Amino acid sequence: MKAEPATLGFAAHVVAWQKTHGRSELPWQNTQDPYRVWLSEVMLQQTQVSTVLGYFARFLERFPDVAALAAGSEDEVFGLWSGLGYYSRARNMHRCAQEVVARFGGAFPRSAAELTTLPGIGRSTASAIAAFCFGERVAILDGNVKRVLTRLLGFDGDMSSGAQERALWDIATQLLPPADQPADIARYTQGVMDLGATVCLPRRPSCMICPVGALCVARREGEPERYPVKTRKLRRTAQSLWMLQADDGADRVWLEKRSARGIWAGLYSLPVFESREALLAVLSPAERAAVVDAPPFLHVLTHKDLHLHPVRVVSEGRSLGEGGAWFAAASWTALGLPAPVRKLLAQQPALDAS
Ligand code: SF4
Repeated sequence: MKAEPATLGFAAHVVAWQKTHGRSELPWQNTQDPYRVWLSEVMLQQTQVSTVLGYFARFLERFPDVAALAAGSEDEVFGLWSGLGYYSRARNMHRCAQEVVARFGGAFPRSAAELTTLPGIGRSTASAIAAFCFGERVAILDGNVKRVLTRLLGFDGDMSSGAQERALWDIATQLLPPADQPADIARYTQGVMDLGATVCLPRRPSCMICPVGALCVARREGEPERYPVKTRKLRRTAQSLWMLQADDGADRVWLEKRSARGIWAGLYSLPVFESREALLAVLSPAERAAVVDAPPFLHVLTHKDLHLHPVRVVSEGRSLGEGGAWFAAASWTALGLPAPVRKLLAQQPALDAS
């Protein structure tokens, strides 16, 4: 590291900049309601602000507070989440709401340490809630903030190492506004988020207009995109899956609820098989003779490329397996479905039943 955090005056610059240039119109800002802050923090993980806006509004309309969310069914939560991806976030969110009600009487705990005991709330999310809603002097360190701080300080430790990440957490804490200025913590937290989201972008950061440009090591070095340093790359794998797209001849489709583990856990899906033979084995001889292989397509997950092979059939309308049912379009559209399944169902015209 090439700069001393304690001497930077970073927090004061960020606080002053946030007042005039930071974001202030987002619907989860200007509130100290931990439910809204938590909801937005979870939705914004891996998802763009522009996408989150609509989901946030729909969630609040249906589940206006944590008690309402806790009382909702998992299927309804998944249905509202549908399209945001990373469904473990939705599952944890639902569990978290239930724990807030069961363990804390429906009020979110006020400290980051207690907040991290809840499902799906990691250290940075806990700190954001505690700083925004309860004024606790704690640091956040999400992906955007890591980028800002490593560049600011010329921190070239490998961020795929736990020890280096812990070192950056310590530095993030040293950079907070002074303890005798508690009023600044919420604005500082917002400011450092805004800086990462609007100025210190992953590619081509706007160093010329950056409020901390004069302090920034990476800018001085002329190569900001070198930070953060991360040497361990994700190892990608690939898998082929066959999906049974069965229609009962009356525009209903067969969907089954997937188990609580593995890919698309807990969502409704077309039945998925590891081979075409395994798929055909659940069909009757007459159905097997009438299958249509639709064009395969690629669906990209974080760690994996899925090569999906839809196999279409007009079924006899019988049960195609445990945990499944026939769904008309009016009902499947409200279910939590994996994105490629939703796309497939929305695109394909019905097969001719004759
Ligand atoms: Fe990021 Fe550039 Fe600002 Fe440094 S000067 S924090 S690299 S935007």
